[in-house]
Amino acid sequence: MATPHPYDFDIIIVGASFAGAACALAAAQRGLRVCVLERKRDPGDKLRTTGIIVKEAAEQTLLNQLPASMTRRVEQVRLYAPSLRQIALAAPGYYFLTTDTPRVMRWLAEQLRAHGVDLRLGGAFTQCARVDGGWQVEGAGTTRYLVGADGARSRVAQRCGLGQVRQFLYGVEYEFPGARLVEDSALHCFISKRYAPGYIGWIAQNPTGVQAGLALRHDPENARVPDIEGFLLRVGMAGGLPRRLIPGHTRAGLIPCSGPVIDMARDRVILTGDAAGIVSPVTAGGIHSAWEHGWTVGCAIASHIREAGRQPEQVAIEAAPRFRTKRALRWAYDKLQFDWPFDLFLYSPPLRWAAEQVYFHKRRS
Ligand SMILES: Cc1cc2nc3c(=O)[nH]c(=O)nc-3n(C[C@H](O)[C@H](O)[C@H](O)COP(=O)(O)OP(=O)(O)OC[C@H]3O[C@@H](n4cnc5c(N)ncnc54)[C@H](O)[C@@H]3O)c2cc1C
Repeated sequence: MATPHPYDFDIIIVGASFAGAACALAAAQRGLRVCVLERKRDPGDKLRTTGIIVKEAAEQTLLNQLPASMTRRVEQVRLYAPSLRQIALAAPGYYFLTTDTPRVMRWLAEQLRAHGVDLRLGGAFTQCARVDGGWQVEGAGTTRYLVGADGARSRVAQRCGLGQVRQFLYGVEYEFPGARLVEDSALHCFISKRYAPGYIGWIAQNPTGVQAGLALRHDPENARVPDIEGFLLRVGMAGGLPRRLIPGHTRAGLIPCSGPVIDMARDRVILTGDAAGIVSPVTAGGIHSAWEHGWTVGCAIASHIREAGRQPEQVAIEAAPRFRTKRALRWAYDKLQFDWPFDLFLYSPPLRWAAEQVYFHKRRS
């Protein structure tokens, strides 16, 4: 007679976005019993991302199987100084994909189900407790490993006493369904200390319309409402946005910007993606790094359970990019951001070189 499993699941993952989906798929493909709790009933609802995917993620991860109708290729970045003078940046062979993000998130959920993952939509993680070396998760059952892929304000981190992200940018974006940019093959990026202190604003064509937004330093002591209306009045025409558009949904959320949290894994609980602070402090891009880290965690747990491989907690810590150079750049940009150098030196070779490094190269250092 087969011995009954001591736990209901090998892994319970909280969050069915990029990090959680990658972790779940890696583990399920390796034969583990995986449950994913996602508090949203519709994974395409209430998005907190622009959803732009970098080339590396589009080619080297399972996201390369996204149906073509859900993505749109963008090969150029147009960088605008505060004066709205602009340069075109590109790198041979490099591209980004803008996405029909609600459909991408639903597609990920379908992939989970197709791989036998027990996906519980509308299932919010609230509480957990240590049992028999594993975890008892309220409303879901017992598990050997608990993974927090639940975003920038991770409740798993809170409940399990792990490290929490402390520094953020705040991003907000309007969707304009059905709209078309004059120049729709470029990602338009705007430097402006006034509207986007600490980061940039952007306008992009996606498969179903236009997205326009900005991000700025998040300072809870002096919270400031982002002036997205003022920003669009200032840059909309330069970016080719048709006049008098009515926005549809708004996407908004916190973006970790201080590198990985200390204490992201121990005692069979592991944080990944935004919950672990794994977002580039310079570009604020987190989809690729969330996917890679989530995938590594899923593989490590499977290898440990099935082949007595290394401790997954240790693998997760080692696999987290440190972003040392990018953290230094973020510090410098936070402290020393001025508009005039961009207005003055936009066309200079060193500034072009630096911008191309940020957009097209050295994503992991
Ligand atoms: C406005 C904005 C624009 C951005 N644009 C880009 C971009 O274009 N490209 C890019 O690479 N990065 C972008 N980022 C960053 C990127 O979106 C994140 O780094 C990435 O989504 C991280 O994925 P994740 O799976 O770790 O977390 P998230 O995508 O935050 O997903 C967390 C999931 O956990 C669920 N959840 C949370 N709490 C619970 C709970 N208690 N119980 C159950 N489920 C829970 C949430 O509903 C959500 O589905 C942007 C971020 C913001 C805020």
